[in-house]
Amino acid sequence: MKLSYHPYSLLFKHPFGVSGNTRNETPTIFIKLESENCVGYGEACLPIYLGETMEATCLFFEQATSLLKKHTTSSSITSILFELDKCNDGCNAAKAAIDIALHDLFAKQNNKSFCDWKDIEKKEGVSTSFTIGIDKEEVIIQKIKEASFFSILKIKAGTKNDKDLINLIRKHTNKPLYVDVNQGWTDKEYVINMIDWMKNKNVILLEQPMPKTMKVEMAWVTERSSILTIADESVKRLNDLEELNGAFSGINIKLMKCTGLAEALKMINYCKQHHLKILLGCMAESSCGTTAMAQLMGFADYVDLDAPLLYKNDPFDGVNYVDGKIYLNNRLGIGTEPLSINF
Ligand code: MG
Repeated sequence: MKLSYHPYSLLFKHPFGVSGNTRNETPTIFIKLESENCVGYGEACLPIYLGETMEATCLFFEQATSLLKKHTTSSSITSILFELDKCNDGCNAAKAAIDIALHDLFAKQNNKSFCDWKDIEKKEGVSTSFTIGIDKEEVIIQKIKEASFFSILKIKAGTKNDKDLINLIRKHTNKPLYVDVNQGWTDKEYVINMIDWMKNKNVILLEQPMPKTMKVEMAWVTERSSILTIADESVKRLNDLEELNGAFSGINIKLMKCTGLAEALKMINYCKQHHLKILLGCMAESSCGTTAMAQLMGFADYVDLDAPLLYKNDPFDGVNYVDGKIYLNNRLGIGTEPLSINF
């Protein structure tokens, strides 16, 4: 198998603000895996605040290149991923890119779509939330208008003005809200007071209100919360999930955190067994990574896969958005193809 990679900068339509930072672009690296006249694609998305650098990710791809040379599509994906995982404790986005490309390549070799190949439900027409970042009042109003086709909004909170933000949104729409605090609140009593206030504002889930280190306080909040609490920064991989111990009522699974589709399926299985709600999310990825995650929509309680819509230079084609709902296409593999990337 031959690995090629291509660093790229995804440019936001509007500056994107979350608790702690605002940015105009997201670095990402697209990869191509070739074997026996077949090609698979993947993506390692690297928002700066996650701490996975372009240099470390490229270095991981160099290591992976020699490892993948020994393999063909007759190898087992599980064995390849196990070998890659042993190379480095981190580099989760790089591992996810290779996992996505392997699943794309192997499904294509079998002349099947990913869902048919894995024998999982291909769910269509799933409503996704549309994300509104922290911004000035007039920009938020503009974004609410742009999101008119979406039935659910996700807002980024975690500032001193969160009530003002929600009140502003409620002046313009009564759509259900997902509120993502990105670890921005640090007092458990404050979190419960906010939950009691938000429950009358049609807020249906609260994502990562407190820092990931505050697991005990978070369990205290979840026990008393009338709104679903969803872990994001607190859970990257399956082992984090196994250590949650009731701190949240569900989790946000993202391919870039969990190292890809193989581990995401294990986490989904764990959630089903332990009655944890499943939110399928993504980093601010292109259509390449997002389309890979959309293959798993049949398992989701909630879907937050709007990232490609936030960009003005998405170089891949994949899922289609119609009236705020996500549709997979009929291509083989993951169903994503480069429009303007030359490897
Ligand atoms: Mg989040």
